[in-house]
Amino acid sequence: MSFADLGLSDELLRAVADAGYDTPTPIQEKAIPNVLMGRDIMGCAQTGTGKTASFTLPMLDILSHGRAKARMPRSLILEPTRELAAQVADNFETYGKYQRLSKALLIGGESMAEQIKSMDNGVDVLIATPGRLLDLFDRGRLLLNDVKILVIDEADRMLDMGFIPDVERIVSLLPKMRNTLMFSATMPREIRRLSEAFLMNPKEITVAAPSSTAATIIQGLVTLKRGSAQKEKREKLRELIKRDDAKNGIVFCNRKRDVSVVCRSMERHGFNVGQLHGDMSQPARMETLAKFKGGNIQFLVCSDVAARGLDIPAMSHVFNFDVPTHAEDYVHRIGRTGRAGREGHAYTIALSEDSKYVAAIEKLSGKPIPPLGAAKVEAKDTAEPTNAESANTDDAIVVAPAADKEDKPKNPRNRGRDRGARKDAATESAPAETALEKVADAPKKEEPISKTQQKKSSRRERERAREKELGFAPDDLPSDPVKGLGDNAPSFFLNAFPGSKSTSK
Ligand code: AMP
Repeated sequence: MSFADLGLSDELLRAVADAGYDTPTPIQEKAIPNVLMGRDIMGCAQTGTGKTASFTLPMLDILSHGRAKARMPRSLILEPTRELAAQVADNFETYGKYQRLSKALLIGGESMAEQIKSMDNGVDVLIATPGRLLDLFDRGRLLLNDVKILVIDEADRMLDMGFIPDVERIVSLLPKMRNTLMFSATMPREIRRLSEAFLMNPKEITVAAPSSTAATIIQGLVTLKRGSAQKEKREKLRELIKRDDAKNGIVFCNRKRDVSVVCRSMERHGFNVGQLHGDMSQPARMETLAKFKGGNIQFLVCSDVAARGLDIPAMSHVFNFDVPTHAEDYVHRIGRTGRAGREGHAYTIALSEDSKYVAAIEKLSGKPIPPLGAAKVEAKDTAEPTNAESANTDDAIVVAPAADKEDKPKNPRNRGRDRGARKDAATESAPAETALEKVADAPKKEEPISKTQQKKSSRRERERAREKELGFAPDDLPSDPVKGLGDNAPSFFLNAFPGSKSTSK
């Protein structure tokens, strides 16, 4: 089947040809004619299957007739994260190049004034994260009663991130007569319930078995012994990268704190690496992502939320530095590679105590993750740096970060309690820079030694003396970080405040 057989307009066929596609993917083949006919769609498809074009192309066709009124978007696409929203906006740019449709992107972390202005001009396609959309709605800056097409993308991720109450509210503000398209990589019961509530007689399209992983991805599991230190995981990561001579890849960590530490450590080992996590400002996230997509950064260390659904077409590797605790995250993580029929590699570093999470992943995907016969790499290549720089990285591990929350999705049931955090979890507010990040941003060795550095090196000397005394390096310490100042609290901190009843401990 060709794109011309799907009933798309000439402008769109030209744009598709310019994009270099000659054959529609299965989801495009099944969804496009149905959307053009006005059917609701429940699409069970992973990213990487071409699902974005499966709704973007027919939407552009439908919207080519008619004009948007000020503040009244004609269509709405809900995305769980800013990056995904920006990616979908890029798709509209690519496929809509021969049309004159207007679009706007409403995401947190970007100027609200600009977004308000774009709404005032009237938009045909509005792409938004739920929090920012409701913010603008509640400020009276947009009306939703002219929305004729609604897309809820990555619905299972919306669920994970606690966005469903917001999505339900948004849907209640839309006209009943509309075309609704919902996409989800997995179909948990809650998503099924929502599809029944939001969609009318939908056409169900499943292009890969729910929760399956693409056949083009070579998976591998490396299990380290119980209680292995983070340092050993970092060594193993380097070993795997070198083993395959990986072209590029994403390294997933479960916690934001580890994102910075792993990134820093890789940098120290000479890798061209960047990081992406929720505490970064939106412009910094976008810049890093653009560099990675453009090949200026070879490896990207990420948290789940930040990297969800990113479309980097020719990515050779995904490394799970930690086994995801939610089995679905595994499917999403490794789906970053092996896209559009290309071969990809997805390696997971587990500790033996992670076996229950590995079992859950294997149960969900219906197949075991084969153990990887990792070739031993020369110790000199993989050992942690032993000079003063290593203390920098290791410093980071013993500092208790202020914002050491996991990038863990919020519980959708905590509606009231979670509201503030949830409102724009996709925008993941940027708290003050953590001690960890300050350390990670420390200048490299070849730069002139500043006073601060001098202070640091005398601290390092003290630490090394302490290591000698203890007989182990900080990295061998249990992974529980020292809280606050630990044993290093100056004595005046321990004194009672004048007039206070209790003495602080
Ligand atoms: P998605 O699943 O929407 O994230 O798309 C995954 C990738 O497939 C993107 O890089 C698209 O540009 C690409 N793609 C989408 N449709 C096609 C097609 N028909 N042929 C080849 N590549 C495609």
